[in-house]
Amino acid sequence: MEPTAPAIAATETQEREFVRAALDVPPAGDGVFYSTAHREEQERTLCPLCGSDSERLVFEVRDTMFHRPGMYRLVECEDCSMRYLNPRPTMSALARHYPDDYLCYTNFEDEHWLLRWAFNRLQQDQARRRVRQVEAVTGRLAAGTRVLDVGCGRGEFMARLQRERRCLCTGIDINPSVLARVYDELGIAVVHGTFPQARCPDASFDLVAMTEYLEHEPRPRQVIEEARRVVKPGGFLAIEVPDITGPPGRWFVDDWWQLDAPRHVTFFSPQTLTLLLQECGFEVLRVKRYGLLMSMGYSLLQAMGFHYFGSNKLAYLTMSAVLGLPSLPFLPLLPDFMMVVARSRH
Ligand SMILES: [Zn+2]
Repeated sequence: MEPTAPAIAATETQEREFVRAALDVPPAGDGVFYSTAHREEQERTLCPLCGSDSERLVFEVRDTMFHRPGMYRLVECEDCSMRYLNPRPTMSALARHYPDDYLCYTNFEDEHWLLRWAFNRLQQDQARRRVRQVEAVTGRLAAGTRVLDVGCGRGEFMARLQRERRCLCTGIDINPSVLARVYDELGIAVVHGTFPQARCPDASFDLVAMTEYLEHEPRPRQVIEEARRVVKPGGFLAIEVPDITGPPGRWFVDDWWQLDAPRHVTFFSPQTLTLLLQECGFEVLRVKRYGLLMSMGYSLLQAMGFHYFGSNKLAYLTMSAVLGLPSLPFLPLLPDFMMVVARSRH
């Protein structure tokens, strides 16, 4: 994997352009309406995988994290079994569902030392696991490998690849303050906005990674087609998403932590994600399903009626760890996440 294209530099001019692009939300089209129950603009959608309008209601789900009003409908496509929210907040309405204390944006430097230590440890373990899962397919990533992390959040995955493999990383995210920290503290190039707005050059990356991102994306097909365009011929795409068909997703139903409505709008299974990737020009090489102790703990907490409180993260994290601990020996049997690694066929 030899680098062939220049890295995307995050200059102030580019940054201003991307901020402007991110604010340039498409005008309301057919299917857009104002929901008084949710007090927000919403849109009805066809199946984001196959375009069918034939759906059935699976169950209704509320925002268990920030307790905003209204119930969201989780539906299943009757033609391809894809699950998604319908209706869902419009792109502009979605922005207010991502406050700065959303878990993947939280700056833990300001938190209790114990929480800082525990969260840092969790993040490091997560980054290490992700690198291991990707390299199980790609082999050890060579120095100079160009990596694009879409929905990079605090950038731990890129930091590890940069530090331990000397990869050349670029991160994209919609949260400007988290990107500022990635740029300032890790020295990693960043682009503010959505993936299509970033306008990356054709065939410029050896690896495109999307970890816990695609489930937030109202238009996943557009995103995968964009990945296909920017990855080099024979390059890799690594996608980590919750698997709604695993035992925790089935058992906890609307208390399953990974529903996270309405921030999660699409819910994949190994079958639906494989179908999407194949239709967009990728060959799926590996689907690794796995469970996480904290996810089990979070789901159990929610099933017991406790919900995430941004003001008391320490108690929440501790209770989740304690509750999740007994499931540790059984986690291989309790997958609610999957890492799918695919290769561009062109
Ligand atoms: Zn469908």
